[in-house]
Amino acid sequence: MLGDNDVLIVVDVQNDFCPGGALAVPRGDEVVPLVNRLAARFRNVVLTQDWHPRGHLSFASSHPGKRPYETIAAPYGAQVLWPDHCVQATPGAAFHPALDIPQAALVVRKGFHRDIDSYSAFYENDRTTPTGLVGYLRERGLSRVFLAGLAFDFCVRYSAEDARREGFAVFVVEDACRSIDIEGSVAATRASFAAAGITCLSTRDFAAGADG
Ligand SMILES: [Zn+2]
Repeated sequence: MLGDNDVLIVVDVQNDFCPGGALAVPRGDEVVPLVNRLAARFRNVVLTQDWHPRGHLSFASSHPGKRPYETIAAPYGAQVLWPDHCVQATPGAAFHPALDIPQAALVVRKGFHRDIDSYSAFYENDRTTPTGLVGYLRERGLSRVFLAGLAFDFCVRYSAEDARREGFAVFVVEDACRSIDIEGSVAATRASFAAAGITCLSTRDFAAGADG
């Protein structure tokens, strides 16, 4: 059963990642009702919000001659280039209007440093610059991390891997996620989760009371 030590992290359910947005995840909006119902079971919910300055390093438009979905060598490693998305305080960066999780106690904004991208809720893409979320969860005594949202094979994946590396028990609610799936990224995500001991669940597991 879910309890006081469990937290749901809802990853990047923002307009730009939904159909019609600048970096739409196919059928991304379908997670909204699933995430709303799932979140109602949790006392502790954290939302993440991709939140880039204009001219962000992850934008293809910041690199003359480059196109979205090409990869560049950033100082911290390979970085996929994206269409401009989730620019701070624009409608695209806002949460999906049907996202309804009033009890969410924390919003973690990420990707706000111009020269580093941040897929993970915990660390930026150099994998050493922290967002502060590890400290928040530890101070609040939250030890089991459940994740849902967008996209399964990028921001959910990186968040789950970092949480596991920090010693949390980690569960990904896969049907409440949607994927981008470029260059085998979904298969790579599943393999990584299996190797790391990250458990994939379905929202149906919660309805049955077998919630982790
Ligand atoms: Zn981004």
